[in-house]
Amino acid sequence: METHMKYHIWTEGCQMNTADSQRLASALEALGYESVEKPENADVVVLNTCMVRQSAEDRALGRLGSLKPAKKKNPDMIIGLMGCMVGYKDTKPLKKKLPFVDVFAPPSNPKPIVDYVLSRQIADEVRSAEAADFEWNSGEILLPKQQRGTAVSAYVPVVYGCSHACAYCIIPYKRGAERSRDPEEILAHARSLAAQGIKEITLLGQIIDRYGLDREDYPKLPELLRRINDIDGVERIRFLTSHPNWMTDELLKTVAKLPKVMNHIEVPAQSGSDAVLESMRRGYTDAQYRDLIAKIRDTIPNVSIGTDIIVGFCGETEEQFGETVRHLSDLKLNVVHLARYSPRTGTLSERTMPDDVSEAEKWRRFRVIEKLQEDIAAEHHEKLLGQTVNVLFEEKKHRRWLGRTENMDLVFADSEDDLTGKILPVKINWTSPWTMGGELAACS
Ligand code: SAM
Repeated sequence: METHMKYHIWTEGCQMNTADSQRLASALEALGYESVEKPENADVVVLNTCMVRQSAEDRALGRLGSLKPAKKKNPDMIIGLMGCMVGYKDTKPLKKKLPFVDVFAPPSNPKPIVDYVLSRQIADEVRSAEAADFEWNSGEILLPKQQRGTAVSAYVPVVYGCSHACAYCIIPYKRGAERSRDPEEILAHARSLAAQGIKEITLLGQIIDRYGLDREDYPKLPELLRRINDIDGVERIRFLTSHPNWMTDELLKTVAKLPKVMNHIEVPAQSGSDAVLESMRRGYTDAQYRDLIAKIRDTIPNVSIGTDIIVGFCGETEEQFGETVRHLSDLKLNVVHLARYSPRTGTLSERTMPDDVSEAEKWRRFRVIEKLQEDIAAEHHEKLLGQTVNVLFEEKKHRRWLGRTENMDLVFADSEDDLTGKILPVKINWTSPWTMGGELAACS
C-alpha cells in the first residue's frame, strides 16, 4: 500500500525488547506504516525501554526529551513508550510525569500502541487495514520490510515475566510473574520466521529452563527444543537465559543430542562469593555453580559458556570480589557479560541494603574482570587457529562478511559472493579476544 505514514522504533535493553519491537514493527507495517531512520520524520515514534540499570533508564529519558521539539513542531506526532519503563501496572503516574507521551504499552504487549494509532488515524487506507484484524496470539509474524531477505536470526519469546526475585533485579516488578507462552503459538512464530528465511532462532526467557513448569499441559524446554528442531528451514537453535538451579540433566542431554541446538549455554553466576550470592538471593553456592559447569562441559561436546557478573553489589568486600576473580580465572568461561551494581527502586537490595561500594571502586573491579576475561577469551580463540569452524554469515561489516560459529564466536571472512544466511566452513587464520577471521574453505 502506498502511504506517507512513517514509524520509528528505538529499542534499548534485552533481546526480549528486540523481539517485542519486531512484532510492533510488523503490526505497524500491516497498518500501512513504513520505517524511517530519523524519529523527527516519523508520524509514530516508539521508545522500547529498559530499566535493568540506571544508565539504560537515563538513555530512554534523554531520548524522550529529545523528541519534545519534534512533537512541538508536529503535534500530530504520536509518541509511544513501551517496555520496562512502563511496566505492567497502572500507567497513570507515568502519564502525569510524561504528559507529551500519547500512549503506553507494557513489555511484550504492543497492542495498546497499535490500538491507539488506529484510533487516531482517519485515512481510509488505515481504516481498511483495520480489517486486516490482528491476531496477536496466533504467533505468526510477518517480518518488517527492512528485515525481509536480510535478517538471518530472530528471537522468539517463550517465557514472559519472572518470579525468581533476585534481590537486585527490577524485572519481576516490571514484567510481572512468570508465564509460559502457548507452545502452538511459539511453533507458529518459529515456522513463520523459517518460511521467511530466518535460519537461527533464539528462544528467550528470564529463566528459560523453567519453560512449561507453570503449566501442566505444556511441554517442557527439552520437548519444545525437539519440536523446533523438527521445523524445516531452521538450521540453528539457541536459548537464553538459564538459571543454575533449573538446568536439568535432561536439558543438557537434549542440547547434546539435537543436531540443530547449538553448543552454547548462557548461565549467569552473578558472583563467585557465597556471601554475595546469598544476599543477592540467587539460590546456589559457588561450589554448586562450579559443579554445574563441570557437568555442562562433560555432557555437551565443545560447549561454550557465557555468564553474567555484577561487581560492587551491596556490601561486596575486596575479599569477596577476589572470590569472583578466582571463580572466573578457574572456570575460564567463554563470555562474561559484566555490570556494575545499579540500585533499582523497589527491589529488595534497594530497599534494605546500602549501596556502599563507591562508583570508583565499582569501575576498578569492572576493569579488573574486563582485563582478566580479555586474556581468557584470547586463549579460547587462539586454540582455534588453523581449525575449520562452521559459520552462519549474517551481514557485511567493514567490507568483510561477519558471522557466528556454533559457539557464538564472531568470525570475519572475505568473499565477493552474498553470504547472507549461508553456513560455511571457515579455516581460522587470525584471532583476537573479541573476534576471529579466516578463509572460506568452500562456497556454495
Ligand atoms: N534473568 C537472567 C538472570 O537471572 O540472570 C538475566 C536477566 S537481566 C535482564 C540481565 C543481567 O542484568 C543480569 O544477569 C544481571 O547481571 C544484570 N542486572 C540485573 N539487575 C541489575 C542491577 N540492578 N544492577 C546491575 N546489573 C543488573
